[in-house]
Amino acid sequence: MEKIVSLCKRRGFIFPGSEIYGGLANSWDYGPLGVEIKNNIKNLWWKKFVQSRNDIVGIDAALIMNPKVWEASGHLSVGFADFLVECKKCHSRYRADQIDLKAACENCETNNSFTEPHQFNLMFKTFIGLAEEKENVAYFRPETAQAMFVDFKSVLGTTRKKLPFGIAQIGKAFRNEITPGNFIFRTREFEQMEIEYFIRESDWGNSFENWRKEMHSWMENDLGLDKKHVHELEIPENERAHYSKQTIDLEYDFPFGRKELYGLAYRGDFDLRNHFKEAPYKDLETNDKFWPHVIEPTWGVDRSVLAVLTEHYSEEEDRIVLKLPFKLAPYKAAVFPLLANKPKLVEKAKEIYDNLRKDFMVAWDDRGNIGKRYYSQDEIGTPFCITVDFDSLEDDSVTIRDRDTAKQERIKIRDLASRLR
Ligand code: ATP
Repeated sequence: MEKIVSLCKRRGFIFPGSEIYGGLANSWDYGPLGVEIKNNIKNLWWKKFVQSRNDIVGIDAALIMNPKVWEASGHLSVGFADFLVECKKCHSRYRADQIDLKAACENCETNNSFTEPHQFNLMFKTFIGLAEEKENVAYFRPETAQAMFVDFKSVLGTTRKKLPFGIAQIGKAFRNEITPGNFIFRTREFEQMEIEYFIRESDWGNSFENWRKEMHSWMENDLGLDKKHVHELEIPENERAHYSKQTIDLEYDFPFGRKELYGLAYRGDFDLRNHFKEAPYKDLETNDKFWPHVIEPTWGVDRSVLAVLTEHYSEEEDRIVLKLPFKLAPYKAAVFPLLANKPKLVEKAKEIYDNLRKDFMVAWDDRGNIGKRYYSQDEIGTPFCITVDFDSLEDDSVTIRDRDTAKQERIKIRDLASRLR
């Protein structure tokens, strides 16, 4: 984990937030390379689950919603609270469900030191307008999901979708977590990619299975996670969210242990029933009106980034390589003039660089020797390095080197784009 955090900082993937002011605990900023990976993940997801499908549409809703939303969803009552215990001696705080309450405090090792668990609502509160009065209280959304329920009828009315269909959204969510930590694994501000997939009640088993498969396909084929590192945890009834009839956590072997990466839940018709007094869906053939049921697959963006970095980080004898899938890599290729002080080489290389940049993120490097440039690109996961040498001026070919095998071959300049594609 230390190696990943250090690489992220050193190369501009992820920095500590507000660092020049001493930081802000557990806040992180994505740097120039991090934002590329993150956007690549989000774009790939949007393409796979929204743009390539006929049965899913997207929305992008406001972060701050009418507080009545959170009353209806249960977030303001018992539903969205964790139990907190505090060590009476050193005041360390823990989530009651994450520790053995009979054990000693991990921090100061005192026995029998915990307070009784008390509930702690995880929502961030704010005020709308100038007056900090009760009626102006609002909350930053703790999940993106509720917007898909609240906008259900508007989406239905404008798209004329029929069951089964889904509404998708990518966006920030905020939770005042009791125990944030492990880098970007658990933060108070994070991003989610969520789908609410609306179905008839009788279809829930099938749909749940389909989504389970889709999520595995995403992890294995899109993120390139090894099957061996992915696990399913069926959540028993007494631990499930209040609305859920079946929930599976998809866990990943992070460097700090096996932890939740994504979730898949059958939420019944709980949310739509709470938001709509009248049944919001009408079957056009039978004229039956009812509240559709919903399957909710949910993906954390930041945990996806962390899993991807963990999975593809590798150390070889003389180099560190991030073996990122092509689609996730911040740069798809890097272009080098063999020597920085030969104008003809630089000019030729610049031409290639400018051309490829029309379609791909491409890096430029003319510092130091080629070996160092390879090393530097391997570390940030650039799949191909393209070197322009003196022969290139004669034969319109360049050397292209593959990140994973380190093999080099000559290729015509005009074939570069199709090769990358
Ligand atoms: P946990 O049990 O780890 O607190 P959760 O079950 O409360 O997570 P969900 O409410 O199911 O999480 O949220 C959906 C997804 O959002 C999670 O699978 C995870 O990827 C992501 N997520 C949730 N909380 C955080 C957080 N504090 N920081 C980063 N990502 C998060």
